[in-house]
Amino acid sequence: MRPMTNPPLLSPSPFPLLLRLLHLSRAPRRRNPTTGRAPTCTSRDRLPLLLPAAMSSASNTAPHSVVADPTTLARKIADIRAAGPTKLQVIADFDGTLTRYWYDGARGQSSHGLLRQGNEEYDAKREALYQHYHPIEICPDIPLSEKAKLMEEWWEKTHGLLIEGGLTYEAITKSVSDAAIAFREGVVELFEYLEEREIPVLVFSAGLADIIEEVFRQKLHKTFKNIKVVSNRMVFNEEGRLIAFKGKTIHVLNKNEHALDMAAPVHGNPGDPNGSMDDYSLVKKRTNVLLLGDHIGDLGMSDGLNYDNRIAVGFLNANIEKSLKDYSSAFDIVYLNDAPMHGVVQLVSELCP
Ligand SMILES: [Mg+2]
Repeated sequence: MRPMTNPPLLSPSPFPLLLRLLHLSRAPRRRNPTTGRAPTCTSRDRLPLLLPAAMSSASNTAPHSVVADPTTLARKIADIRAAGPTKLQVIADFDGTLTRYWYDGARGQSSHGLLRQGNEEYDAKREALYQHYHPIEICPDIPLSEKAKLMEEWWEKTHGLLIEGGLTYEAITKSVSDAAIAFREGVVELFEYLEEREIPVLVFSAGLADIIEEVFRQKLHKTFKNIKVVSNRMVFNEEGRLIAFKGKTIHVLNKNEHALDMAAPVHGNPGDPNGSMDDYSLVKKRTNVLLLGDHIGDLGMSDGLNYDNRIAVGFLNANIEKSLKDYSSAFDIVYLNDAPMHGVVQLVSELCP
């Protein structure tokens, strides 16, 4: 694991990020995002800006975030700040966004991948489905509509195997306890800051809500009343055995705010098993969005929402050299190298001081 230090979370000056962005937008030189060296070409329009490390990551030496268009970002920050916290909502992906990509030097597990059904035959059957469908998922040549059908097929077969194989809630608890999964450093501070200001956080996932909530319980050791998990939700019988899934299937290609309408009601928190759809109408009135994701497809999470301003933050965890250009044009800010959440905490502190 890369060693991390704890930089100050909140800057003492009133608009440090905004001022830095305005300053950077006039800066004459930029460094190469992957090497940190000065660029050899002079095109200012094509190279993204690197924010100083002090505001973007735990490192004091290497830049760890990239902003391609600081002027637009500065405008969005000013607009969202002016509208106030009652207009803001946060929409976050779970795996690789709230959680770390690396765990103890190896690839961390996803909320789906960590599940051990307690039935090897069925674990193997789910793995076989993964081997068949994952290449389809990442194949750029399959038309989206066809791919969406195949993804739905994959998810439904997987859910069927979980029921048929007799998944218990106990197996979920144990899987999470054994899992190589951890939240990014600074996630708790982020949630606390947002909770204090009553800013809702929708955690969108094509995984399994029950697992994600168990990860929250076991790894954060606290609950937040402003966080809703929108994902595939299980129904257990009295013996704690899975018997069904609620609502329509949420898979990788329909993970957006339309899912709010089709998903099962979400738990407000583990003590609020019925949740409330009223929350959604309130969420839809919050027209400024801070979106957090680790794939360009995560930008679709705000589809279905008529937002005024959206700041999209992307975590580029791997293949940085290959993907940075696409990420820096898709996201307003890109954090590199499995960065902690501190930069986002600072951003939020400036959006809603
Ligand atoms: Mg993800």
